[in-house]
Parts: sequence; structure tokens; C-alpha cells
Amino acid sequence: MTEHYDLLILGGGSGGIATANRAAAHGARCALIEKGPLGGACVNVGCVPKKLFWNAAHMHQCAQTARDYGFAPLLGDFDWAAHKRARDTYIARLNSRYHAGLADNGVTVIAGHGRFVDPRTIEVDGGRYQADHIVVATGSRPLVPEVPGAAWGLTSDDFFALAARPRKVAVVGAGYIAVELASLLRALGSEVSLVMRGVHLLATFDPMLREGLTDALTTAGINLLPQRHVAGIDKADDTLSLRYKDGETLCGLDTVLWAVGRIPNTDALGLDKAGITPADNGIIATDPFQNTAVPGLYAIGDLTGRAALTPVAIAAGRRLADRLFGGQPDRRLDYDLIPTVVFSHPPIGSVGLTEPEARDRHGPDAVKVYRTRFAPMTQAFSKEPHRTAMKLVTVGREERVVGLHIIGEAADEMLQGFAVAIKMGATKKDLDDTLAIHPTSAEELVTMR
Ligand SMILES: Cc1cc2nc3c(=O)[nH]c(=O)nc-3n(C[C@H](O)[C@H](O)[C@H](O)COP(=O)(O)OP(=O)(O)OC[C@H]3O[C@@H](n4cnc5c(N)ncnc54)[C@H](O)[C@@H]3O)c2cc1C
Repeated sequence: MTEHYDLLILGGGSGGIATANRAAAHGARCALIEKGPLGGACVNVGCVPKKLFWNAAHMHQCAQTARDYGFAPLLGDFDWAAHKRARDTYIARLNSRYHAGLADNGVTVIAGHGRFVDPRTIEVDGGRYQADHIVVATGSRPLVPEVPGAAWGLTSDDFFALAARPRKVAVVGAGYIAVELASLLRALGSEVSLVMRGVHLLATFDPMLREGLTDALTTAGINLLPQRHVAGIDKADDTLSLRYKDGETLCGLDTVLWAVGRIPNTDALGLDKAGITPADNGIIATDPFQNTAVPGLYAIGDLTGRAALTPVAIAAGRRLADRLFGGQPDRRLDYDLIPTVVFSHPPIGSVGLTEPEARDRHGPDAVKVYRTRFAPMTQAFSKEPHRTAMKLVTVGREERVVGLHIIGEAADEMLQGFAVAIKMGATKKDLDDTLAIHPTSAEELVTMR
């Protein structure tokens, strides 16, 4: 027998769970299909375990600063295994919280791998489920390059399962996951090389952020290796070597981490049966309302090829549910001005246009940029203080703020409120007219000259 629902959701990660809960709150009869633990990449192998590691690395750095303030040495060695036990327990708690939340909202959870049978039907372990509306929210997975010995390397998923701290690591990649893993490993005591294909890390970010992070990572002792094209991994006596296309090698590694991008989970869903043809890179194209080319079928989250961030998947799903079941026919996510943080050491916060993007889009004469660079007060007693850099990108005579970029202590926490102001159309004058909170680092954003 085939069970029928108003809404079926394929994938119980950030986007899928949010869509299900919102649709159920509007009274829709929903089922959510998930083949792994609830919560998807973010909870299990992404934002959450990453941030817990980041917190640990941050505490280590605070303990170092504390010495300058007069404290005796505070911390012993980092107990990786104890941290992993605590992390696993915390994540298991989140998994059960998601189960409880869905159950409270009356959402049916179907465990197993779902595959389309036709545009209205999904099969899971022999059971068939139909719905008037189906949302595909199966996320993405780490990309492993096709080079000899690639399987000796680990992905970010494997990283979070490591039982002990790697001693000597090569992180291959230059995006935000690569720099986050490299910098937390270094802060926790590993010897780290960051192997980049291009010249720059974080290629799409404002140049000030790229340059600031390059300096900070180098000062932290990370071996930055630009313009290295990896040809393969060799293994001998439990030791790994990275081989580059020019014949050079990076030897004596115990761990290689691939952080070279992610691919959409769209290849094992029977999408041909549903009438959806993903692009060659696996992305499912959607219009601004998350509609695919097939009526009644929608896609949200990482597999749509837009900003691959948890709040983006959640917001797209909730708005879709509001539109389909909440009587809000125009509701959709505005993909402009998405704030983003890189949890490196130091962290980066960024929203809106980079300086080069603003000049391209609005013309060089229309853009005015404000910058500052300073040592935050926590570093007052440090001989080599970590610096903070900030940039405001404004356009037009009214100096509307179209970009804001911060690298430095607490950038992650500073950004959210400023993102609200910028989304509301704040001008430089609005920032100038806002009284500073003193003494903080954030006050620099309202006192720039
Ligand atoms: C290391 C790392 C760090 C990150 N850090 C951040 C961060 O700090 N901030 C941030 O905003 N974002 C971060 N992200 C990105 C964030 O995790 C993703 O953007 C988000 O999880 C995408 O949500 P989604 O719903 O599209 O997919 P997911 O949350 O991944 O959910 C997809 C779900 O679908 C399931 N699934 C797949 N195929 C099937 C099938 N056939 N049948 C049943 N179930 C299926 C999967 O098991 C998975 O649970 C990070 C990602 C990684 C990898």
C-alpha cells in the first residue's frame, strides 16, 4: 500500500527539518525521509563539531593571552579523546532533540535511503510514499579528487571521527573549510601545511580578509604552500607523502585532509524517474521560489548551488513551506546580503560586496571605502598583538553601506547586528549617528573616518 502525504521531504538535514516543521505548523501532513542521523551535515559533520573544536582552540589561545595578564600557565595538554567523547554526546543529544521536535509537530520520520519511482512517489526499503508536493533536500558531500592514492586522504567527515590528534597534516584546499580545519589543528598543536592550487586562500572574499588571514596563519606557524597541483598520495611504512605534478613532494605526513569542495547528493535519487535533470556538477536548478522544472517538485539547500550555509537552507525551506501551506503566495528567500563567518583563528565576518565587486558593479568613482586596523584591548599586554582589520564599502553620494568585512577577535559575534542594519539599507551616516559602545572593538565600525 502507498501512504499519501501533503508533503514529502527527502533529506533530514538543516533544510529538510526546517521545511517539515514549518509545513506541519501550517497544518500539512508531512513525512521526512532520512538515511542517516537527523540534522544532516551541519549537526553531525559540519558547523556543530567544527565550532566545538573552534571553541577548544580559542580557549587555548585565551590561556596564552591570560599569561600576559598575570595568570600562571593555565592549561595542560588538549585531551583529544575526551573532547571527542563530549562532542559525540552533545551531538547525540541534538539528534534526539530533532526527533522529539518533529514528533511534537506530528511529522512522520521514515528512516532509509529514498529514491523517486515517479514524480509523486518515493520508495524507501520497499515502502512507497506519495505526496502532492516533494522537496529534495539531500545536501552535499565532500569531493575527493581522482588522483592515485586519493583514498589515503581523509575528508572533513572523516576528520570529525579521528580518535587522536594528527601529528603532521597537509590540508589540501583554500576555501573556508580548508582554512578552518588548518587553523584549528594548528592551534591544538599539529604541524600543518595548507596546500593551495591557486595563489590565494579564500579567493572570493575581500582582499583585506585574504591578506589578513594569510599573515595570521603564517604567524601561527602554518606552512602555506600556494600553486601546488597535487598529483597523488604515496604511502610507505604508515607515512604519507603528497606528490605534486612538478615532481616535488611533501613528505613525512600522518594525515592528508581533502578540503577541495563539495558535490550535491543528487546522483542516487532516481531523479530521472521524477523528470529532473541535474546539471553536470550535480546541482538542481531552481527558480527564486525553489521550484524545479517539474511542477510539485522543489529543491532547497546545498544541492541548489547557492550559498552553502545552514541558515540559507533553513530560510529557503521555511519560506517554501509558508508559500505552499501558509497562504503566503509571494514568500521566498532573498539571496542577497547573506552574512557569513569563517571560523579561522582569528575569525572573519563578511557581508555584502567585496571592494572589487562594488567597483565592478557600481563603477570605481561611486565607491568609497573606509578602513581601520588596530590591536584590540585584550592584546594590550602582548608583545606581538593579534590585530583586527575592518572595512566598510559604501556607494553613492548617500554612502549606502554595501559591504562590511572584519578579521579579528570577535568578528564572528560582531557581524550579526551590523548585517541587520545593512539589510535595512544603512548609510555611513547612520553608523556615524549611532553611539559607540566603549571600550569595544565593534565601536570602530561606527567611528571610522
Ligand atoms: C566542515 C563543514 C563546516 C561547516 N560549517 C558551517 C558553518 O559554520 N555555518 C554554516 O552556516 N554552514 C556550515 N556548513 C555548511 C552546512 O553544513 C550546510 O550548508 C547545510 O548542512 C546544508 O543543509 P542541507 O539541508 O542542504 O543538507 P544537509 O544538512 O547535509 O542534509 C542533507 C541530508 O540528506 C540526507 N540524504 C541524502 N541523500 C538521501 C537519500 N537518498 N535518502 C534519505 N536521506 C538522504 C543526508 O543523510 C543528510 O542528512 C559546514 C559544512 C561543513 C561540511
